[in-house]
Parts: sequence; structure tokens; C-alpha cells
Amino acid sequence: MTAYDAIVIGTGQAGPYVTSRLAGAGMKVAVIERNAFGGTCVNTGCIPTKTMVASAYAARVAARAAEYGVDVGSVRVDMKRVMARKDAVSKESRTGLEDWLRNMEHCTVYQGHARFESAHEVSEVFHSDGVYAGTDEPYLFGRRRTGGPDPERGSYRSFASFRDPDGNGWLFQEVTTRLAGRIDSGATTFASANDLAAAFRRAEAAHGKYEARLGQRDANWPEWYAAYMVAEQAGKELPS
Ligand SMILES: Cc1cc2nc3c(=O)[nH]c(=O)nc-3n(C[C@H](O)[C@H](O)[C@H](O)COP(=O)(O)OP(=O)(O)OC[C@H]3O[C@@H](n4cnc5c(N)ncnc54)[C@H](O)[C@@H]3O)c2cc1C
Repeated sequence: MTAYDAIVIGTGQAGPYVTSRLAGAGMKVAVIERNAFGGTCVNTGCIPTKTMVASAYAARVAARAAEYGVDVGSVRVDMKRVMARKDAVSKESRTGLEDWLRNMEHCTVYQGHARFESAHEVSEVFHSDGVYAGTDEPYLFGRRRTGGPDPERGSYRSFASFRDPDGNGWLFQEVTTRLAGRIDSGATTFASANDLAAAFRRAEAAHGKYEARLGQRDANWPEWYAAYMVAEQAGKELPS
């Protein structure tokens, strides 16, 4: 288990700045973010709403330009471009913040859900480093531990462990895709809010690449996400 002087959970309004102050003072700091860097303000709150307010303000001023002796012709709001600008501004803040933290001296960034093991310990997610040397069968992945989740986010490949008050050791495995035979392909279910959130994150990442190929915002993202998550759980070909 790695020891830190401070563990910051969440990269919302206070997290990144307290991290910077602590790391700047030479403390060894871990930052854990389970979702989008920047939290509510950057991704769904202040910044996106204010970029849309700015667009509305521009439209309002342009619409009233004649009152000020300025002729701009007819004014039309292109919502697709308004939303694309909003997404771009949010993305710039999000990635800027993430890069800042990842490149910060004395700071280690973990992406995942932080849980308290006890009053003073937070479990560290780990994965195997790919060397499966051992005599036990079936081999338990993770004997040689590397910090962070499995880079491929393979099913049963990311772990966390804890010890209960009786001293028993426990190991969690992350299930990203259920093995065939354990699911009804006609029904899509999630065991917990965390499982659902993780599925959303994987769909979001894949959808980001899809939008990049598309070269524009995909207004039908809910259908795309739904198709992706259903196909993933059913083990069928994923939308590309
Ligand atoms: C539509 C909207 C508009 C807003 N506009 C304004 C505005 O103009 N001005 C203003 O001052 N405020 C505004 N707000 C409010 C502002 O966004 C919030 O007050 C602020 O973002 C709260 O910051 P926070 O750091 O407390 O929480 P959050 O921003 O929610 O950050 C918490 C972070 O912690 C992470 N996290 C939580 N639990 C865990 C865990 N167990 N493990 C790992 N990570 C975890 C989350 O993923 C998240 O990234 C707005 C809010 C909304 C919804």
C-alpha cells in the first residue's frame, strides 16, 4: 500500500487548489477523481451555463442592434454551434485541469471511486503488471501489483483490497463486461449506481472518439450511449 501525506478526493472547486498548495509545500499528495476532472462547475454547472448565457447575450444585443443605429440583418441562433462552443470551453477547462494535476510535482492522480477502508485508509485500485508467474491455478491476477486500474479496463482485471475488523483479507474485482451466460441479452441491468456510472464513462469515452470522427457534436448522443451500453452488456458488436 502506498502512503501519502494527504489524499484529496474529488477535483471540484477546492480539490485542485488544495492539492497544489500541499504538493507545493513538498507533501506527497494523491488526488482521486471518479468522473470528469473539474467536477460540476467545469462540466455541467457554472462554465457551460455561462457560455450559453454569453451566446444568448450576443443574440439579444445583435437583435436590438438597430436601436443603436447598427444594421446587422436578420439574427438567427444556431443551437448546434452554441452547444459545440459550450462543450469546447468546458473541455478546455477539464483537460487543462487534468494536465495540470497530472504534471504536478509530488502529486499522483488516480481515476476511480475512492472509498474509506477505515478512518485513515483509502483503498488503492491496482492491476497486474502482466506477468502471470505463479503456481496457483487458476492464477489470481494482481499478484504483482501496479497502481491504478487495468489500462484496458478488462473485466476482472482491476482490484482493490481491504482487511475487515476480524483480520480477514478481501479482494474486489471490477466487472466491466459480464461473462456470457450470466446475463439475459434481452435485459440490461446494473448491479449498482457505480456500475451504471462506469458504463456511462466507457460510453462517453467511446462516444468522444465517435464525435471526433464525425467532426461535430452528435445531437443523438442518448441513443448512441444506450446502444453502446446495451451492446456492451450483451457482449455484442459495439457501435463505432
Ligand atoms: C447548472 C449549474 C450552474 C451553476 N452556476 C454557478 C455559478 O455561476 N457560480 C457559482 O459560484 N456556482 C455555480 N454553480 C454551483 C457550483 O457548480 C458548485 O457549487 C460547485 O461546483 C461545487 O463544487 P464542489 O467541489 O463542492 O463539488 P463538485 O464540483 O460536485 O466536485 C466534486 C468532485 O468530486 C468527485 N467525487 C465525489 N465523490 C468521489 C469519490 N468517492 N471518489 C472520487 N471522486 C469523487 C466528483 O466526481 C466531482 O468531480 C452551478 C451549479 C449548477 C448545477
